Amino acid sequence: MDKQTLSFQAEVKQILHLVTHSLYSNKEIFLRELVSNASDACDKLRFEALNNAALYEDAPNLEVRIAFDKAAKTLTITDNGIGLSTDEAVANLGTIAKSGTREFMSKLEGDQKKDAQLIGQFGVGFYSGFIVADRITVESRRAGLPAEQGVRWSSEGSGDFEVETITRAQRGTSVILHLRDGEEEFLTAWKLRSIIGKYSDHISLPILMQKEEWDADKQEQVVQEEWAPVNKAAALWTRSKSDITPEQYTEFYKQISYDTEAPLAFTHNRVEGRSEYTQLLYVPAKAPFDLWNRDKRGGVKLYVKRVFIMDDAEALMPVYLRFVKGVIDSADLPLNVSRELLQESRDVKAIREGSTKRVLGMLESLADSEDAAERAKYAAFWKDFGAVLKEGVGEDHANQERLTKLLRFASTHADEGVSFADYLGRMKEGQDAIYYITADNLAGAKSSPQLEIFRKKGIEVLLLVDRVDEWLLSHLYEVEGKPLQSVAKGSVDLGKLQDEAEKKQAEEVATAFQPVLDRLKEALKDRAKDVRATSRLVDSPACLVVEEGDISGHLARLLKQSGQSAPKTNPVLEVNVEHALVKRLETSAQFDELANILFDQAVLAEGGQLEDPAAYVRRVTALLTA
Ligand code: ADP
Ligand code: MG
Repeated sequence: MDKQTLSFQAEVKQILHLVTHSLYSNKEIFLRELVSNASDACDKLRFEALNNAALYEDAPNLEVRIAFDKAAKTLTITDNGIGLSTDEAVANLGTIAKSGTREFMSKLEGDQKKDAQLIGQFGVGFYSGFIVADRITVESRRAGLPAEQGVRWSSEGSGDFEVETITRAQRGTSVILHLRDGEEEFLTAWKLRSIIGKYSDHISLPILMQKEEWDADKQEQVVQEEWAPVNKAAALWTRSKSDITPEQYTEFYKQISYDTEAPLAFTHNRVEGRSEYTQLLYVPAKAPFDLWNRDKRGGVKLYVKRVFIMDDAEALMPVYLRFVKGVIDSADLPLNVSRELLQESRDVKAIREGSTKRVLGMLESLADSEDAAERAKYAAFWKDFGAVLKEGVGEDHANQERLTKLLRFASTHADEGVSFADYLGRMKEGQDAIYYITADNLAGAKSSPQLEIFRKKGIEVLLLVDRVDEWLLSHLYEVEGKPLQSVAKGSVDLGKLQDEAEKKQAEEVATAFQPVLDRLKEALKDRAKDVRATSRLVDSPACLVVEEGDISGHLARLLKQSGQSAPKTNPVLEVNVEHALVKRLETSAQFDELANILFDQAVLAEGGQLEDPAAYVRRVTALLTA
């Protein structure tokens, strides 16, 4: 065929204009796109050759070669993949057939600014070469066709392109970029290597470049005949599990995470179905220093068909799993997918859900393992990451039940590692709630007066001392049908655990003591919402409780520490009418002083701070010296 000049489809002109005008700030992506096309072409050959091995001709090793010519100012990307026939060159490089681009076109509004934003969300592909080139020549021969049926396609990327028949011995395609003035940086080996390292290291084909040697006479690098690979050409996650050693998994983890330690666990799967992707996800052994920063992006890299797309694609993992490191390689997403599009994509949603389940499964298999060493790993994980995992209980409703099973606490029974299953298994006959107390630290929690009656009756109480626990509790009301109940909120109701005789006796004592309670209420009217007799205390004279629905003293302190103002509600003072100090009140001449001491001590006992410590000291001193 003689040289013909053909016109681009109207949409192509539009795309060309947009690509060259709006993507200039990120121009190096053209190489990623062209290498990706070369890799696709090799994949296609491999696929067609399954039924027709002759297509390999005499070159069975698929590869991509990148060469540059400083004098001619050209950069050439050559592959020995499937190649293009003349018709294919006209159709595939002159019109837009693929659905993603057509969808993109349908969204174009003709408003250049808005359209430019859109373009970032779709694959720009081959035409991105025109960002840096003022002419692109493609020379190709389709595998299986004779050498005389090669094609040369050429265009300046404006209105039209030329095609002609050429003779080309080599199968596959060369894309020759005639670089614009000012784009000479793409004519240096180190620049090309660094772009390939950044975007295409995991392309599983070798990407070759000619070696260079320093020429002392010329004082410059001189290109040699010999070719050598510049990428690792090993996408670990694309290989089958049985071919990968534990050491290789660890090595890869270190490489992507910059961690020096081996990971705690990993999961590697190929997922097929509505959304097709491969995931290789790791849980680190130690928390990073910035684990608490919820704005920190996750640690999962996104690849599309082995081409690197972006680091830290937060849309691929829920925030509470931000410590997970790894790679997700999708077969469905467009190459130029943006962060914004990731947030909305249904494929991404499916990937996120699937990956979340995998990570939870990985943690569950450690936590529930028969092997004590595996369970110890979970305990170690919990120590470092447990507080972050707790965020998930409130954020991920679909997995709340699974997450709840992974929670571990301290309790009056054991200092760590208590699961809800453990707790439920130890519940007393007739116990119908899961009891807990929140405090600033374990020692404070353990010595809370509110625990006394529970200790006496041998009922286990969870000791919640993590900052996020209050938040957790605002999302978790019950476990396996048993409500979670604070031992420091509302009046104690031990339900069936308290026998009727006891209850009755307590009520009688309280009634007899009512006049004293009324006087206390009057004396403390600015400090306590109410004063009442309680059966929750055994050894302590008094304690503070908050009404059901009010925020606890512990939460109020947390809010204050974080600079937020907590709504001020006075607590209820509960007194142990059997206690000697309380009994003394009845006959005391210094009733008001004693009442305030009682209150202040209750504040101190729950780890609170006195509003007026000096007044407390004065009162106690007066009492001691009286
Ligand atoms: P996409 O790769 O998403 O299909 P591109 O704009 O990158 O879109 O490429 C358009 C088409 O041009 C490809 O689908 C393919 O048919 C053809 N093509 C581009 N580069 C090559 C190549 N190196 N070898 C064979 N065909 C190619
Ligand atoms: Mg492409």
